[in-house]
Amino acid sequence: MKKQKISELLIGTNNKGKLREIRDLLPKKIKIYSTSDFQIKSPKETGKTFRENSIIKAKYFSKKTNLICLSDDSGLEIDILKKKPGIYSARWAGKKNNFNLAIKKVFRELNKKDQNWKNKIIKARFICDLTIYWPNGKLKSASGIINGSISKEKKGLKGFGYDPIFIPKKLKKTFGEMSPKIKSKIDHRYIAFNKIKKFL
Ligand code: IMP
Repeated sequence: MKKQKISELLIGTNNKGKLREIRDLLPKKIKIYSTSDFQIKSPKETGKTFRENSIIKAKYFSKKTNLICLSDDSGLEIDILKKKPGIYSARWAGKKNNFNLAIKKVFRELNKKDQNWKNKIIKARFICDLTIYWPNGKLKSASGIINGSISKEKKGLKGFGYDPIFIPKKLKKTFGEMSPKIKSKIDHRYIAFNKIKKFL
């Protein structure tokens, strides 16, 4: 049987940075909807893993709109902080989504853990789980990981979230210093998207 191609899709996120990045990855022939077209608030992220939370969001937004939905759950894991902020990455920025605050918290936690951390390589990674959820209950998920380290200071004004403090492995610049074109060809979202795009 010939595979049915997706003609329209809801991007299930209220995060503007993610919306922009996911929109740029999608084939232009798909009609894209965003949650702001429907004024839907995000569900509670009650999952214990990125995978569970990406399924919760994709299912929730699909049920609300009766559209096929692609959702992302992602975050930053820092090894010496026992993989924090992890699935709590968005929550570290508080209700107002203030990433100056979240990044200050990262530096505060690193200082607490090791006052000499700036002279060490602080291993970290961004993780992204993407889920496509169909109104008939079918779903597909995929994960992407990019390894790297935490910058000694905030650098760069591009991107969003923790981009100004994450340096991908083998590179010297933070995501915040990279053009979206370059970041979007190497990051965790792109890696996950490449695994899931065959279902679109
Ligand atoms: P959530 O998936 O809605 O729980 O939010 C994930 C959070 O992780 C975002 O709000 C960002 O803070 C952070 N995050 C995920 N992906 C990226 C990225 O590509 N750059 C910077 N921060 C990211």
